[in-house]
Amino acid sequence: RECSPGQNEFYQAATEVFESLTPLLEEEEKYRDYAILERIVQPERTIIFRVTWIDDAGKIQTNLGYRVQFNSTLGPYKGGLRFHPTVNLGIIKFLGFEQIFKNALTGLGIGGGKGGSNFDPKGKSDAEVNRFCQAFMNELYRHIGTTRDVPAGDIGVGAREIGYLFGQYKLLTASFEGAMTGKGVGWGGSFGRREATGYGSVYFAEHILNSHGDELKGKTCCVSGAGNVAIYTIEKLKSMGATPVTCSDSRGTIHHPKGIDVKTLKAIKEVSRESLEKYAQLHPDATYIPIHKYPEGGHAVWSIPCDVAFPSATQNELTLVDAKNLVKNGCKLVNEGANMPTTPDALEYLRKHGVLFGPAKAANAGGVAVSQLEMAQNASMQRWSFAEVDTKLFGIMKSIFETADETAREFGHEGDLLMGANIAGFRRVADAMIDEGAV
Ligand code: NDP
Repeated sequence: RECSPGQNEFYQAATEVFESLTPLLEEEEKYRDYAILERIVQPERTIIFRVTWIDDAGKIQTNLGYRVQFNSTLGPYKGGLRFHPTVNLGIIKFLGFEQIFKNALTGLGIGGGKGGSNFDPKGKSDAEVNRFCQAFMNELYRHIGTTRDVPAGDIGVGAREIGYLFGQYKLLTASFEGAMTGKGVGWGGSFGRREATGYGSVYFAEHILNSHGDELKGKTCCVSGAGNVAIYTIEKLKSMGATPVTCSDSRGTIHHPKGIDVKTLKAIKEVSRESLEKYAQLHPDATYIPIHKYPEGGHAVWSIPCDVAFPSATQNELTLVDAKNLVKNGCKLVNEGANMPTTPDALEYLRKHGVLFGPAKAANAGGVAVSQLEMAQNASMQRWSFAEVDTKLFGIMKSIFETADETAREFGHEGDLLMGANIAGFRRVADAMIDEGAV
């Protein structure tokens, strides 16, 4: 904290991981002997750069760009780019830190990193977004590459932004190589990458329920967010026979008791990029709840009764107020699609009341796992079918669940998937750090 003041989200993420590690650290002296904790909290490299671009009015605009190359012990840095006005170094460090353990949990050879900018793509023309992405890549390209660092998307960075970023990378390096993932399927992308985080999150929830003799089929589900993760969570829930009744954006929430219409949602959010208010205009049996009508200190999505909750928008979006509403309404499982969406006090309350919990670094690891499959396809110049990728994704999510579940049991905390995921991810990285010496 003394070295990096004011990085609250990063402290929150690091505290949660370190608290979970207590049983492992009590058993194993070697992690202390090799100064693993001291080393793992410091990024290997932090790049902060100015991004200058010209808006449609001809005015010069300046933003800040970040790439935190956190840990390359297991492979090239891998993690998304976030474009959102709230982005700062603390947010990128929290995301990069989480990414180290998430990537380790997949069992694949990828290190952890994250990046982004305080640029807000909302309300910008395609030409402005294109110019910003080119300016951002003018600096980033010298730090990334297929065996070095392979960025992908996150909040505010979807198919459009990846296209513009990749186009500029190609121009600057004069090579077509898989230095970014989330590319379009027509130009080096993998089938199933777009769907991977949402589908993977649903598969993870199904594995949790199955282990308790239950299933998603027939369940009422609440999903927050209306972006990449939320849309494909909703799509997969419907195909598995569950009813997702909500979605939300930064301005409001939709409650549609008969189930969210995925076609309408995609048209509004993926094509015309409008507010969710439009959804209620097209579906009069759905209700739109604007944010000024949300419960005090909470979110409208979590006050709607459900069996399973899928927070899939952003960090700290599910508060103690929300946790109390979920428990009151009989929610059985909270499965994190977003990164760190549950506040620490909310998590404690859910735990105390016996609500099952799918932690982000396990539940949303499907996206990065399929990104690695995209890297593998690029490197071998192959292309796998959607079904092939989806089958692999299902298997990876099952293996992540089993790893977290077995590790929790090994340390006498049966069912604590957060502890299991943190210990399993940490142990894989830490053991490799010992092997690789004092670097
Ligand atoms: P998108 O930009 O596609 O969607 C984000 C959604 O969340 C939008 O509906 C947005 O509303 C809403 N949102 C964002 N910030 C806020 C906020 N501060 N308050 C309220 N609503 C907000 O992002 P993704 O779906 O890709 O990412 C969602 C979460 O999932 C993030 O936590 C991300 O880190 C995590 N994640 C994403 C992965 C991926 O593959 N994309 C992989 C693993 C994790 P609006 O449209 O109004 O801005």
